[in-house]
Order: sequence, then C-alpha cells, then structure tokens
Amino acid sequence: MPIQIIIEKCTGCTLCVKACPFDAIRVMDKKAVIDLNKCNLCGACVPACKFKAVLLEKPQATCVLPNIKDYKGIWVFIEQKNGKVQSVSYELLGKAQELAKKLHCEVSGVLIGNNLDDQLDELIWRGADNIYLVEAPEIANFQDEPYTNILVGLVKKYKPEILLCGATSIGRSLISRVAINIKAGLTADCTGLDIDTEKKILLQTRPAFGGNIMATIISPNYRPQMATVRHKVMQPMEPDKKRKGRIIRESFSSATYASRTKLLDIVEEIETLVNLAEADIIVSGGRGMGGKENFKILEELAHVLGAAVGSSRAAVDAGWMPYSHQVGQTGRTVAPKIYIACGISGQIQHLVGMSSSKIIVAINKDPEAPIFKVATYGIVGDLFQIVPVLTKKFKETLGK
Ligand SMILES: Cc1cc2nc3c(=O)[nH]c(=O)nc-3n(C[C@H](O)[C@H](O)[C@H](O)COP(=O)(O)OP(=O)(O)OC[C@H]3O[C@@H](n4cnc5c(N)ncnc54)[C@H](O)[C@@H]3O)c2cc1C
Repeated sequence: MPIQIIIEKCTGCTLCVKACPFDAIRVMDKKAVIDLNKCNLCGACVPACKFKAVLLEKPQATCVLPNIKDYKGIWVFIEQKNGKVQSVSYELLGKAQELAKKLHCEVSGVLIGNNLDDQLDELIWRGADNIYLVEAPEIANFQDEPYTNILVGLVKKYKPEILLCGATSIGRSLISRVAINIKAGLTADCTGLDIDTEKKILLQTRPAFGGNIMATIISPNYRPQMATVRHKVMQPMEPDKKRKGRIIRESFSSATYASRTKLLDIVEEIETLVNLAEADIIVSGGRGMGGKENFKILEELAHVLGAAVGSSRAAVDAGWMPYSHQVGQTGRTVAPKIYIACGISGQIQHLVGMSSSKIIVAINKDPEAPIFKVATYGIVGDLFQIVPVLTKKFKETLGK
C-alpha cells in the first residue's frame, strides 16, 4: 500500500482532510480513512498531519538520465496533410532558426509521408538545414502508431537536443506518445520559446493556472527538450531561395508501419462561415457589444474590410456568437495583420489568442481597460458611435 494511516498515531483531528485537494480522506470512528480511488499520492496530507500518522511511500523513478552532451541540434516535426506541408511547420522552423543562433546548432525537419519531393525546397528556404525524410505508401498520411515509431527511431538514432511540434490535433496526438516512449518531458501549448544562453537550455513559456500566470518551464535533465506550439503564435521566415540544405533519407522495416488502427478515408472539414485562423483582418466583439443583435454592426464593418468576425469568450458564453468564433486560450489563436477589438477588456486569456497580431486597434469606453496595453491604436469611446463611423469612412475610402 503506497499510502497508509498509522491508526495508533491518528487522533481524527481532520487536518489531513482539510489538506487533501482531492477530497480523498474522511474521518470515520475518529480515524482518517483514505479513498485510494481518489488519492493520487500528491503527499499534501503528510506535512499537514501533526502526529506523523500518514505514511507515504512514493514509487522511485527508474529513468536513467541521458548523457546530455550527446544531444545536438533542433528538430521540427513537419506536419503534412495530403502531401502538403502545413503552415504551422514553417512557423516552427522560423522560431527554431532564431533559437539555433543562440545555441550555434543546426535546424532539422522530420518529414514523414509519401512522394514529398516537391515540398523539400520550400522547407529549406524557410529554415531547415537538414530534412530527415521517411517515405512509404503505408505512411502517406498521419497515423499515430507508425509515425510515433518512426519519430522515436530517429530521435534515438540522431539525438536532437530540442524537438518542436505544432499543437495541432496531429501534433498533440503524436508528440505525447513520443515523449512517453523516450521518457522525455513535454511542455504543451507554448506561447514563447527562448534559450537560457548560460545553461544552454530551452525556456518554454505557456499560460498556467487558467491563464492567470505565464509559467516558464525547463527540462534540464532529460533530452530532447520537447514542446508544442499553437498555430499562428510564431512567425515564419521569409523564403530565402539561396539557402541550401541536406536531405537525409531514412527507411524503416515494414513492422514499423504496423498499426492497430486503419485509416479509411480523410474527410475535409466543412469550413465554417469564417476561417479566423487564416483571416488577414479580424473584427472582434466582446461583452461590450451588449447583445447578439448588436454584432450586426461588426459584421457590416467586417464586410467592408473583407474581414472575419471574432469574439471574446464572454460573448460566446452569453450565446451571442458560436464557439467557432472565439479567440483566446480556450478558443482559436489568431495573428492577423489587423485585429480590431470592440468592447473587449483584454483579459490575459483573450490576449494569449491574439497578441501576435501585427496591428491591434482597441475600441473601449474604459480608458483603463487592459486591452490598451497591447493596442497599437486605442480609441476611447462608445463602440456604438465609433464602429458605424469607421464602417462609413472605410466604405468611402475603399469605394465600396
Ligand atoms: C480557463 C479560462 C479560459 C478562458 N478562455 C478564454 C478565451 O479563450 N477567450 C476569451 O476571450 N476569454 C477567455 N476566458 C475569459 C476571460 O477571463 C474574460 O472573462 C473574457 O475574455 C472577458 O470578455 P470581454 O472582454 O468580452 O468581457 P469584459 O471583461 O466584461 O469586458 C467588456 C469590455 O467592454 C467595454 N465596453 C462596454 N460597453 C462598451 C461600449 N458601449 N463601448 C465600448 N466599450 C464598451 C467595457 O469597458 C469592458 O472593458 C477564459 C477564462 C478562463 C478562466
């Protein structure tokens, strides 16, 4: 039994009950009783007990620490769908090049699929110094088990010190399996990556505790240091057609491609009205819109600008906008050229989804609203007066 109450010492004082974050302890007949179905061995009850009546034996980790000096270079898992590299991979290559300058190392892409030769130049032009290419008809499209086997095989053979992957549905499914397999840490959904130049380790920043703080996480003892990053958070490099790279073709036995699941078909998602993630201009509304019907004035402005309409979670929770329009930590991450925030206060959970926008225009009647701290241009005033004037002016200027 990993956790026990020493009955002779327990006084039934309930201090452990109060300390347990999982509601796993009850006092029955003046003795503490632990519900092992709820207890996750966090140990919070141990120091809480003044009578030393809780005995916790945590299982010892059996991982062997890798020899960190053997690990070199930054890798990016290149996501492709139907043979086309996805833009998140270019964004990660751009960031990886920035990091590589601080580590004085090379950036490599890992590309798995079939008939992908036409994608290689662009990857090199946009930041890959090397491409590890694995091609076979069986792995033309993503499948969890074969792709995990291949990536694990390559990591074990070449030992990269950093491995980055898009926080997409493919990336999330793949990279967690890889992390378990090679016993490495993984920081999901990073919004910032940097290098501690003194210790030469990756600094992985992401929102934590419901977005109330930004946490910087390090993996000093295990390699590779692994992180996923959401689409549109990092900037891709401009293609440089003079860049040269190496293609390293790797092959695996057919057993590597074995899978307990079978890919039957790929069905393209039917696009919603707006494609927020790809839009160049987004006009977004928050609780300040005051009601569903008022979003009409944003739709008019969006129509004139050729923009998509976004919203804060408050507007989605109120039922004014569908969830597919939500921008932020639990919605979409966007990085348009222009983001116009109307009646949005600018809480951290909203900002993490849009602060990479090139120009942010905030319209808010409260001059102290936090959105003004990230705004390029701020308009203090009533959005119901300002938005229609903007629509009229843009209509005239753009000749619409
Ligand atoms: C775990 C977690 C995840 C979350 N995820 C998200 C997320 O993905 N996206 C998100 O947006 N939020 C998210 N939130 C919620 C977030 O904390 C805020 O509650 C939310 O962003 C507030 O939305 P808002 O700015 O529209 O509303 P408010 O904060 O209420 O702000 C309304 C603003 O409108 C202004 N205003 C009112 N009337 C007018 C007017 N007539 N003219 C001009 N300005 C006016 C007010 O001055 C105010 O600044 C999350 C919260 C948690 C805990």
